[in-house]
Amino acid sequence: MFQDRCNLAGLLYNPREPRAAMPGRKPPEDLPAMARIVMKFGGTSVADVQRIKNVALRVKREVDDGHEVAVVVSAMSGATNQLVKWVNEISPLHDAREYDTVVATGEQVTIGLLALALQEIGINARSWQGWQVPVETDHVHGKARIQKIDCAEMIRRFSEKQVAVVAGFQGIGPDNRVTTLGRGGSDTSAVALAAALNADRCDIFTDVDGVYTTDPRIVAKARKLDKITYEEMLEMASLGAKVLQTRSVELAMNHRVRVQVLSSFEDKPGTLVVGEDEIVEQEVVSGIAYSRDEAKITVRKVQDRPGIAAGIFGPLADAAINVDMIVQNASDDGKTTDLTFTVGRADLERALHVLKGREGELKYGGLVSDPNVSKVSVIGVGMRSHAGVAQTMFKSLAAKGINIQVISTSEIKVSVLIAEDYTELAVRALHTAYGLDGA
Ligand code: ADP
Ligand code: ASP
Ligand code: MG
Repeated sequence: MFQDRCNLAGLLYNPREPRAAMPGRKPPEDLPAMARIVMKFGGTSVADVQRIKNVALRVKREVDDGHEVAVVVSAMSGATNQLVKWVNEISPLHDAREYDTVVATGEQVTIGLLALALQEIGINARSWQGWQVPVETDHVHGKARIQKIDCAEMIRRFSEKQVAVVAGFQGIGPDNRVTTLGRGGSDTSAVALAAALNADRCDIFTDVDGVYTTDPRIVAKARKLDKITYEEMLEMASLGAKVLQTRSVELAMNHRVRVQVLSSFEDKPGTLVVGEDEIVEQEVVSGIAYSRDEAKITVRKVQDRPGIAAGIFGPLADAAINVDMIVQNASDDGKTTDLTFTVGRADLERALHVLKGREGELKYGGLVSDPNVSKVSVIGVGMRSHAGVAQTMFKSLAAKGINIQVISTSEIKVSVLIAEDYTELAVRALHTAYGLDGA
């Protein structure tokens, strides 16, 4: 049904087979004669006027092939960082609504410029800000989640051969104000739009030519993967591999959106994100991820009694601060305990502010924080059936003299928190230890 296709919230609860996944469908590389495609271009791909003109030429190729195209773009590379910096200089504990007002502007520039570049080469194109589509989100400013996309008008204009150029990263909240989706959120805009449009493919064009076993910028021997499962990509992304935003992978998995990550600068196939059934041979460890966006907080000498964890983590959750790794250590006196956990580095100041505000109630002995930590993780669905993966990690790090501060595990990953200075050394050592190095 028409409404169904445009209602993402509806799709979330009733995942439908996308058009390309019908029985007997062609592989996604081989699109139907008249396909519907979402193309997303990240910051480096639209970093200057020449690159925007190149993007327009790449889009024109798909239009000339007879496809319906929606293009999602990020802000020019560095633009969002600059906007965030200005916000923090004026107000470190800023109002999240005004933060969104400022940081969403980067994408307004690039949609306008790309629409103009397309018009200049004879393509009918129109720009769309989030609220104009509209891309409806929840109320969590700065980290909003998309709830519904009404793309009826966009689809109508496809029939007039118009290309939609959509601002990534932004939407409109229930308070009728601009929201943003968290850093790297344009990927999520693209996948959500692809789900809502029931697109045949969602191509994420970026500055690397696919998803690698680890960040190719720090490990020269990283290997490009032809395919990766949604599940592994989800872990890689949530553990720091910035190539796709976590929420975008979650949406792709729920809606079975065919996502391809490929280069904006070179014309060659990228990496397909696919279901587990499409991967024949599974490695035990498929990748290593790292995140420098971490900060560690230790709440010293809190009483060891029921309700304390809720008293600490409840207010942080209310302030929309995600807590990741948690360890609790018994203290010497046996009556109190030290609670150590990690939050996003960008949330550190706010987290400390929230906890200081609760000092009277929680009666802790002190608050210690460290922003110079990073999290390194090994990921692989094959871990479910193989023992000893964690042991290899601990041994390799020990051999390099790297101290592990916190450990967390799940069925398909092991993560450790270490001093930030050792990040690259750790990632390279682990990449070699798990036999991932390419030629
Ligand atoms: P864009 O601006 O196009 O959204 P991003 O900088 O957000 O690009 O994401 C691409 C970057 O992700 C690459 O430049 C690379 O350094 C980094 N990256 C981290 N882990 C990986 C990985 N496993 N595979 C590929 N790229 C990775
Ligand atoms: N411009 C936003 C950012 O830098 C969104 C994105 O690039 O995906 O985080
Ligand atoms: Mg990105």
